[in-house]
Order: sequence, then structure tokens, then C-alpha cells
Amino acid sequence: MDCIFCKIIEGSIPSAKVYESENVIAFKDIQPAAPVHILIIPKKHIPTMNDVTEEDGPVIAEVFAAAREIAQQLGIAESGYRLINNVNSDGGQVVYHLHIHLLGGEKLGALVG
Ligand code: IMP
Repeated sequence: MDCIFCKIIEGSIPSAKVYESENVIAFKDIQPAAPVHILIIPKKHIPTMNDVTEEDGPVIAEVFAAAREIAQQLGIAESGYRLINNVNSDGGQVVYHLHIHLLGGEKLGALVG
């Protein structure tokens, strides 16, 4: 499959991995938008949030649990961070393998309001 994140999962493309479990991996974004910018992804190839099914519930919960753990490990859990999921073209999605951006390490600008 021609998916860059699947290639990162199988190890044919290198990544700066910060977390790995049976179903989830996380690695540093190559174009960081904040001092901390990690991508957290399910190993299962799910293209977008629109493709998540009920049976994916546990793995989505694992993705968020990994985000919480990584934020704690990186020491930004208390100061705060932001989780973002871009969906399709208006949402700014570029890589069509579901991923959550974990951003932090500085005071982030308001998105709304
Ligand atoms: P999207 O816009 O939500 O799809 O975000 C895709 C993200 O993947 C962008 O922030 C890219 O910088 C990042 N990215 C693309 N290729 C790689 C890679 O090979 N390693 C790490 N991050 C990547």
C-alpha cells in the first residue's frame, strides 16, 4: 500500500519514534509546528476519522491513552497541550492514515474565540 505512515510502521521509512505498543505508534512530526509535535497513529490503516467504525473503538481509545502517556513522559501534561485531527481537504489532511497531532511545549494560539 502506498501509505507513508504504513511504511513508517513497517520500518521501511525511518522515524523518530517516541512510543510503540501492539496497536499504536507515535513519532516526531518532520515539520514541527510547536516545540513538541508528535503524531500518534493506529497501526491499522484507517484513512480518515470518517472511516472509523464501531469495532475501531478500542484502538481509538488506545491512541488517546498513548497521547496522555506521551504528554506525561514529555513533561507537558500539566502545562497543557493540544490534540488535533485533520479530516479531508477542508480540514487540511495531507496524509490519509488516521493520526492525532499532539502539540505543546509553548503557549499555543487560540483556534476559536
Ligand atoms: P495532516 O495535515 O494532518 O495530514 O498532517 C500530516 C503530518 O505528517 C504533517 O504535519 C507532516 O509534517 C507529517 N509528516 C509527513 N511525512 C512525515 C514523515 O515521514 N515523518 C514524520 N512526519 C511526517
